[in-house]
Amino acid sequence: MSGNPMLTETKYGGGRSTLEAEMHQLNLSPEMIRYCQTISRRYQNPIVELRAGVCTGCWMALSTAKRQDIETGDGNDICEHCGRIIFYEEV
Ligand SMILES: [Zn+2]
Repeated sequence: MSGNPMLTETKYGGGRSTLEAEMHQLNLSPEMIRYCQTISRRYQNPIVELRAGVCTGCWMALSTAKRQDIETGDGNDICEHCGRIIFYEEV
């Protein structure tokens, strides 16, 4: 008997604090924050990462225009498929 099964559930298990920290980190506009709070009732992970042009919330590819918008603009936008907030992190 070893290991702690509770450790796997930390990411969004704690409620709002993680989400708020994330919104802060991404510098979301007030509208985006309001939007995020709305969709957080529907999704467990309302903020997801854009990876290789794909939304990691619904795993659908975004349109080129949308991708460019995110990559060259604010770094965040709303997924046109699932409505989650996607952010792009430069590496
Ligand atoms: Zn999506």
